[in-house]
Amino acid sequence: MVSLVIVSHSAALADGVRELASQMVQGQVPIAVAGGIDDPEHPIGTDPMKVLAAIEDVFSPTGVVVLMDLGSALMSAEMALEFLPPEKASRVFLCEAPLVEGAIAAAVQALSGGDAASVLAEARGALLPKQSQLAPFLDQSAPAGTAAAAEDAAGQRETLRLTVPNRLGLHARPAAKLVNLAARFEALIEIRRNGRVASAKSVNQVATLGARQGDELIFTASGPDAAEALQAIQELAAANFGDPDEEPAALAAVRESGPDQLPDGLVRGNPASPGIAIGPIALYHPQMPAVESRPIEDPAAEFRRLLAAIETAKSELGVVRQKAARTAGAAEADIFEAHVLILEDPALQHAVNERISREKINAEAAWLAEIEETAGRYTELEDPYLQARAQDVLDVGQRVLRQLMDIQVQPLTFSRPAILVAEELTPSDTAQLTPENVLGILTARGGATAHSAILARALGIPAVVGATHIVPQLTDGQEIALDGETGQVWLALSAETKEELVEKRASWLAERQAAQKKAQAEAVTADGVRIEVAANIGTSRDAELALNFGAEGVGLYRTEFLFMDRRQPPSEEEQLTAYRAAAAALAGRPLIIRTLDAGGDKPIPYLEIGHEDNPFLGWRALRYCLDHPDIFLPQLRAILRTSADHPVKIMFPMVGSLEELHRAKAVLGEARASLSGENRPFDDDIEVGIMIEIPSAIFVADHLATEVDFFSIGTNDLTQYMMAADRGNARVSGLINTFNPAVIRSIHAAARAAQEHGIWIGMCGEMAGNPLATPLLVGLGLTELSMNAPAIPAVKEALQALTMESAGRIAEKVLLMSSAAEIEQYLRAAAEMFGPPL
Ligand code: PEP
Ligand code: MG
Repeated sequence: MVSLVIVSHSAALADGVRELASQMVQGQVPIAVAGGIDDPEHPIGTDPMKVLAAIEDVFSPTGVVVLMDLGSALMSAEMALEFLPPEKASRVFLCEAPLVEGAIAAAVQALSGGDAASVLAEARGALLPKQSQLAPFLDQSAPAGTAAAAEDAAGQRETLRLTVPNRLGLHARPAAKLVNLAARFEALIEIRRNGRVASAKSVNQVATLGARQGDELIFTASGPDAAEALQAIQELAAANFGDPDEEPAALAAVRESGPDQLPDGLVRGNPASPGIAIGPIALYHPQMPAVESRPIEDPAAEFRRLLAAIETAKSELGVVRQKAARTAGAAEADIFEAHVLILEDPALQHAVNERISREKINAEAAWLAEIEETAGRYTELEDPYLQARAQDVLDVGQRVLRQLMDIQVQPLTFSRPAILVAEELTPSDTAQLTPENVLGILTARGGATAHSAILARALGIPAVVGATHIVPQLTDGQEIALDGETGQVWLALSAETKEELVEKRASWLAERQAAQKKAQAEAVTADGVRIEVAANIGTSRDAELALNFGAEGVGLYRTEFLFMDRRQPPSEEEQLTAYRAAAAALAGRPLIIRTLDAGGDKPIPYLEIGHEDNPFLGWRALRYCLDHPDIFLPQLRAILRTSADHPVKIMFPMVGSLEELHRAKAVLGEARASLSGENRPFDDDIEVGIMIEIPSAIFVADHLATEVDFFSIGTNDLTQYMMAADRGNARVSGLINTFNPAVIRSIHAAARAAQEHGIWIGMCGEMAGNPLATPLLVGLGLTELSMNAPAIPAVKEALQALTMESAGRIAEKVLLMSSAAEIEQYLRAAAEMFGPPL
């Protein structure tokens, strides 16, 4: 059973909390206290040794949850952990929940047999019942104050009043920014609006407050870092909650098209993504899995099942996000980060846990009920933008249900290009589409601001939404046409109308092509220096799409996507087909194929990497491949065989030492020898390079450079390892900034080693696609930049405005700077001077 430790400055308070919690569980949960210090003159304080003794007293391998009051209690608890042997320390969990409510909730959950995760979750959500009960009174009791933080009467709570500045209010993305920020502080932070209260750490509660531009919000924070938290929130609000206030051009275009006379046979929905589509209908009926409510015996086990399903759904979202970044762009892919926040919402998890225990029903039924309730709260809001977020909640809800019920996702497939017609599309559905297989989208529900509409615009697929009356009349295969700029839908096409529309579509495509042509211009600086601008791809299909954005080759083929969503690894022949298809699409342009980078945030279940406490530091990528020649050798053979007819290069991920590189090259040698033995052709001079993404590689870059033909910097991993901050953990996301001087200096060091040894160096981490970084990276000596394809036109534009001399000066200056903020500010100013508007 999980046991508890209560840490307080006051021995009496610690004993009192224990008495209260013990009484709730009839003394059946082991609870130890560490209250006050052994100094009769000054008994108020905390002592790490007392905390240590208390932990030892009730230690249980199932887990010990430590609750504490405030200030030095936290430090004492943290120090106590340092004195424990690691295997014991790993079973002790410090909990930020409020002491009294948290201790009672934790004790009750521990008694019901819950594991440490469920006890923690229960304690963390312990304030919610009190909050909802007192919600009507809280607004009145909040002290009046100025816009600055002010202490309230009790002196424990900090308060901040502010007015929502941004045009769309606290909708999903600003809400996500706020929640991410709040999560970095220990303080309990609440927001009140018109008598409603929300936890600032719950994305659903924040968004369903329905806060709109001009509304007054009252923030209260209590805890050791309350003042800092409110200060940070005030700064975020001053920056519009990180929300760009301009309306996206494509959305403005569809909004501006006013109503016009509708000729006969024509109906109208809401315009959502510009462009003309003509073609047969493919009807799509996505459905929430049918959930049965079953009585259960063990609520704790059900909740554990839910938490496991949530974890898997989060990993899946990481993959969906990466795919969306490649096809729709990094900013649009952030929609799926908001989905992760919904999954992590402590209030939602708490509510499901409560429902499971209260109604003694299975996790699926409790989850579905809470998801529908949460989605319903969004639907009830007045703001159509916030109403549209209900779809995100349902999308996330389905994802978890599929995990709980072990339902395989059916990918959306089309036998021929078609107009996709559905009641409504989720963002996850939309992210799977491409303009090649989907000519247009028509939905009965949804608005122009739904995330699926945002994705459709980014993908360049014409869309009409909210066509309530039309959709039920349509049949599979029927030919229709739609105009995503005006919202018009033609259900019957006369020869004359069709001809007109075909012409209109042709001129729309021609306009698009003209914009794409501009992006096709070769990337050169203003003084004529060539910098290769390439794309990152995950499938061979992506290679074709990347060319439309102006890619001059592929600088990173993430082959792990070929290994995902299946039950066994692809054979050598299957890989060969995929690599050849990508190379053929590139028609002679360079293609860098990275060997399998599984593990970390890219789970591939059948590889049986298993659970790891620190997957990013674990058995992943090259480390796994070196131990698995059965996987590594066929891949290397497939890449080599592709090189017989196409200009491909091999790249090893996650190289941290010369020994690893030697071992990888030895397997490559084996692959070469086996192919030679079979008389199979390959390019004997194939370039072999490595990713620079582990700090140790920077320090031995001079050695590594003597052994390879090129370096490609992976800033996504390099930044997380340099800053020791998990790239998927929202709480430390502030540290994941590629402009951090430590990261810039690492890039500089790798570039110098490359130059000294006469090899070329490029970058394929996300930083390469940020036009703000372009002058700096060129100035540091990088000659190739590989990025998500939609970022290419802006980076090319930044390059065309730059001279090598100005780039060199910018890099020199940046290398002297001491903070990411200073560097970003300087690069912004430099871009205004030298380049196109960013
Ligand atoms: C990187 O780490 O920067 C990189 C490009 O690789 P991935 O994002 O696939 O780990
Ligand atoms: Mg990486």
